[in-house]
Amino acid sequence: MQDLEENREKGIENQECFLYNVNMILFVSENVARTPFGPLTFWKGGEPMELLKQRIRQDGTVKGNDVLKVDSFLNHQMDVALFAEIGKEFQQRFDGCGVNKILTIEASGIGIACVTAQFFRCPVIFAKKSQTRNIAGDVYTTKVESFTHGKVYDVIVSQKFLGPEDKVLIIDDFLANGAALEGLIDLVKQAGADLAGAGIVIEKAFQPGGDRLRAKGIRVESLARVKSMSEETGIEFVD
Ligand code: 5GP
Repeated sequence: MQDLEENREKGIENQECFLYNVNMILFVSENVARTPFGPLTFWKGGEPMELLKQRIRQDGTVKGNDVLKVDSFLNHQMDVALFAEIGKEFQQRFDGCGVNKILTIEASGIGIACVTAQFFRCPVIFAKKSQTRNIAGDVYTTKVESFTHGKVYDVIVSQKFLGPEDKVLIIDDFLANGAALEGLIDLVKQAGADLAGAGIVIEKAFQPGGDRLRAKGIRVESLARVKSMSEETGIEFVD
């Protein structure tokens, strides 16, 4: 407890810590400290990824007030060497969580998810946006409103590929209002699978998705968090 106080005085907040409680010692290193009495504190996430932030500053462009275009390296042309660094970072953050499946949503999450899966040595499932539900056999299905197109899609995953034996890491390129992530979490729940958390490349922290999901106890790890952005002033990060 003394260490904790000393670190607080030094301004170190995002730390592993010990909590003492009569005859119980609880080691806390996850997003939410789970006590028998419920969630105790919010995960603040790991260090932001400097390499990624530099790249966003260099090559990202802002459209309007809320769309960040990173299609020269992330979601149209893809810088696979950068993806490998991103995948390694996710692997380090979720190391020891027992992840055996990565789940993403088509289309722009697929590249990142595949490279990340190499570090976890596990398969990737991408949820399909479908109007026809023409996937063979039984499917889990949910609805997601697309941030970029404003449309609502049915999103499906075959029941063959996700079940109660799975520990799932969700990967996506962006987190904005949280609709994509909530849809994917719903699919994980329908499958009776366990959720390790979500790895997000760029979170637009001025939009509500990240805070809402963390408040629900979901571990959300974002590698770069944008505090604000505009065509005039450029991009500012949370930290
Ligand atoms: P959400 O569902 O959290 O509102 O939005 C997440 C999804 O919308 C991501 O899968 C991503 O494809 C897309 N998206 C959200 N914001 C942006 C953005 O600023 N730029 C780009 N390129 N895609 C975005």
